[in-house]
Amino acid sequence: MINIAQNLASINALIDAACKHAKRQPKTVNLLAVSKTKPADLIVQAYEAGQRHFGENYIQEAVDKIQQLSHLDDICWHFIGPIQSNKSRQIASIVDWVHSVDRVKIAKRLSDQRDINITPLNVCLQVNISGETAKSGATIEQLPELAEFVNNCPNLCLRGLMAIPANTKDEHITKNSFNQMQTLFIGLQDQYPTVDTLSMGMSGDLDIAIDCGSTMVRIGTAIFGKR
Ligand SMILES: *Cc1c(COP(=O)(O)O)cnc(C)c1O
Repeated sequence: MINIAQNLASINALIDAACKHAKRQPKTVNLLAVSKTKPADLIVQAYEAGQRHFGENYIQEAVDKIQQLSHLDDICWHFIGPIQSNKSRQIASIVDWVHSVDRVKIAKRLSDQRDINITPLNVCLQVNISGETAKSGATIEQLPELAEFVNNCPNLCLRGLMAIPANTKDEHITKNSFNQMQTLFIGLQDQYPTVDTLSMGMSGDLDIAIDCGSTMVRIGTAIFGKR
C-alpha cells in the first residue's frame, strides 16, 4: 500500500536539501501536491499529514473532489491544466489559484466570472519557455501585455509565472529554461507588487528549479504514485 505521509516527508526532505544547496530558506518554497486522477481518500491522507495545497488538471474531476472535500479547513485548490473557454466559469467559481492563464481572452472570462464577493482568483501566467509549438503558454513577447491585462482585472490577483520546460534529460536545457523564467519573474516583480510566485519544478527537476528561484514546486507521482 502507498504511504502518502512517508512520500510527503521524502519530498519535503528533498526540498529542504535543495534549499540548503541554493542557500535559501525552506519556507520560501511551497509544495503543490498534484492529485490529478487520484481519489479523494489519498488527498485526505496527504491533508492529514499536513499538506494544504493541491493541484488538479481536469475541471470535472476537480469539481467533484473539491465538493467532496469541502469540509477540510484551509485546503487550497490550484488549477494547473490547459483552460478551454467553455470551462472558465467552473474554474473561476471553485479554485483559489490558476497557474495556466496564457491569453487575454481567458483572463477576461475568469475575472468576469469570478464572484465579486469572494477573494480574487490568484493567477500565474503560463509561459511557453521551451517554444515548442504544441505547448500551452504565452510567448515571452506576449507576456507584458498579458501581465498588464491581468493586473487590471478586478477579480484576479497577479501572483506570478508558471512553466513546464521541455521534457528532456539534458539538465543544461532545463537549467537554461529555468534561468530565463527567473529573469522574467524578477522583471515582473519589479513592475507588480503582488507578484511573489514562480511555479516551476517537478519530481525530476525540483533541485534545478529551486536553484533558479522557484517558489512553488508541483509534484504528483512522487507523492501519490504512478498514474
Ligand atoms: C501532472 C503535472 C505535474 C506533476 O507531474 P508528476 O510527474 O506526476 O510529478 C506538475 N505540473 C503540471 C502542470 C502537471 O500537469
